[in-house]
Parts: sequence; C-alpha cells; structure tokens
Amino acid sequence: MLQAPLSLDAKARPVPAPLTDGFCRSVRYLRVSVTDRCDFRCSYCMAERVQFLPRKDLLSLEELDRLCSAFVGLGVTKLRVTGGEPLVRRDIMGFFRAMSRHLDSGALRELTLTTNGSQLARHAADLAACGVARVNVSLDTLDAARFATLTRRGQLAPVLEGIRAAQAAGMRVKINTVALRGFTETELFPLVDWCASEGHDLTFIELMPMGEDGAEARIGQFLPLAELRARLAERFALTPLRETTGGPARYVRLTETGQKIGFITPLSHNFCESCNRVRLTCTGELYPCLGQEGASDLRSVLRASPDEAALDQAIRDAIARKPRGHDFDYSRGTLRGAMARGMNHTGG
Ligand code: SAM
Ligand code: SF4
Repeated sequence: MLQAPLSLDAKARPVPAPLTDGFCRSVRYLRVSVTDRCDFRCSYCMAERVQFLPRKDLLSLEELDRLCSAFVGLGVTKLRVTGGEPLVRRDIMGFFRAMSRHLDSGALRELTLTTNGSQLARHAADLAACGVARVNVSLDTLDAARFATLTRRGQLAPVLEGIRAAQAAGMRVKINTVALRGFTETELFPLVDWCASEGHDLTFIELMPMGEDGAEARIGQFLPLAELRARLAERFALTPLRETTGGPARYVRLTETGQKIGFITPLSHNFCESCNRVRLTCTGELYPCLGQEGASDLRSVLRASPDEAALDQAIRDAIARKPRGHDFDYSRGTLRGAMARGMNHTGG
C-alpha cells in the first residue's frame, strides 16, 4: 500500500510549459490502465482465453504514482484510471489515495475511473473519500442472461449494487454502452428509461476494431450511432447540445425526460482534431493515440534513473510524436486500421 507521496509534489515544481503535440493540441488528459486483468471477458474486448502479461512487466503502484505525478507536474489536469478492470488490482485504493494529493494541491482537477462495476460496491465510499466525484460504469444490457452471455462470466446484480453504492456515496454515475448490431437495438429504450429513472448520464460508443480475437468479426457487429439516434428520435424530441466536455462525445437532450445522451463516434465521425488525451498502459508504454501503433517505453526511463528531468523529457518527446489521428474504417464493408492490441491493454 502507498503511504506517502513518492515523488515531487506537482505544486512544488516551477510551472512547466504545457504538453503540446506536433499539431498544436494541448494534452491535459491522461488515461492510465493499471492492469490488463479483468474478471469479465466482454466479447468485443477480450478473447475468452486470454494470455495476461507477466506480473513482473507491470508497473508497481509506486512506479505508477511516480509516472502519473510527472504527467500532473507537466500540466495534466484530468486523470482517469482504467484497465482491464482497475478495481481488481490489489491495493488499488492506495493508488487512488496517493493521487488524491494532487486534487488537494489543486494541480489535478479531476480524478476518475472507468469500471465494469463488479467491485464497485465495496470501494465506492473509499473512492468518494479520495475525491472521485464521477465514475463511468460500462453496462450494455439490463437483462441478466444477456449480460452473462456478453461478458462471458459477469453477473448483473453486483454491478447494479455497485452503481447504487456509488450514488449513495455521492458520486455521479455515467453509463457507457458499446453499440452492437443485433444487440443494442433492443437494449436502447430499456437503458434510456432506466437511466432517466435512476438519474444517470448515458453515452453510447461505437465499436472499435480492436483485440486479437479477430477484429474482422467486428465488421458485422458495427452499429453506427446515427441509427440509434434515429430510433431515439422516433420516441423522443432530441435537441442537439453545443456543449462538449472537451472530449469526443456529442450530446443531445431528450425533451420528454430532460436527459442528456452522449454519442462517441470514432468510426462514423472522427474527432481526432480536438484530441487532448494520451494513454499509459500498465507496463508503462505511452500510446499517444488509441488507434495507432507507436508507443514510447516510459518504464525503462523510469527504471533507469530517479532523475525526474529525464522522465519529463521522455514524456515530452512521446507527446511530440502524437499522430494526427487513427485510421479505423469499416466503410464499404471492409476493415481498415484494426488494432490487434486489446482495449484491456491500452485502457479504454
Ligand atoms: N473494465 C472497465 C470497463 O469495462 O469499464 C475499464 C476498461 S474497458 C477496456 C473501457 C471501455 O472500453 C469500456 O466502456 C468498454 O465497453 C470499452 N470497450 C472495450 N472494447 C471496445 C471496443 N472494441 N470498441 C469500443 N469500446 C470498447
Ligand atoms: Fe473487462 Fe472492461 Fe474489457 Fe469488459 S470491457 S472485458 S469489463 S476490460
């Protein structure tokens, strides 16, 4: 367990130049995958028999602290903890406690996580105490049998319990739903109605061609969000909202319920020009783009020396190489730009 800050406090450092890539995009948002392991095997994310990374390759929680603190020191203001399933990593609450010092110092504006919700009930109060104000929970169906099939080994009831615990602890919950052809069409209205009654935000995400178990299979499962939006419009009056959260989601408000619904469309409407985020894997690779190969190995820099200046420079060099955008494309029924790397590795 982490006891005390392990690296320089971001507040104590001189204000650095912001992290900027070669296309003048300022990078302020870090997603960190703290493990590639997961208690589910969602069919669109992982193979059923998946080979996880050797534990020795994973960054220790102390190393994750040092690395994330370096990013905060370089101007990252939003940190999302993801995975794999972040809450299955042993002592992960020690990491959240360590990161909360950057909220206290004001260097970090938001500390948050994306989770499948299976372990949320037992961690919700501690997360809230660490300053986590919002949590994204991935949920594709409210039907227990379909949930078990899609996640291959997950159970719906503990997830719903986790969501209730998060709300009770004072956190806002956003539900993330991956749109799947032949599946989500029937889930759409039950999910929208349930989110309205429970007071959760809801965002739909287009399926990305990632994962080693045949990204080709994703072509048939791809459901453009324009189709879901058209179905919604049959029952609700939709008002497009201008607001963005600086991220890829675009929102509409449903007049009848007042709900805000988000759409993330990496395939049908690419949003790379405004991308402000980078991803750090649990082995210390920095992926400046989710949909491109080309990562920088920060673990070896981290382990080579305790010199923070060398680490800062390696981070700046990696960000400078952020590509213009991804090449995902399913148009004309063929697949381009697929990534064999699974979402559980890079961190969704
Ligand atoms: N285990 C946590 C969870 O499920 O929320 C965090 C990690 S998961 C990789 C993060 C997000 O990636 C989830 O919302 C999941 O639905 C999404 N995801 C996984 N595979 C995807 C794919 N092929 N296309 C689009 N989203 C995907
Ligand atoms: Fe696990 Fe999340 Fe991937 Fe599902 S989407 S297998 S819960 S990492």
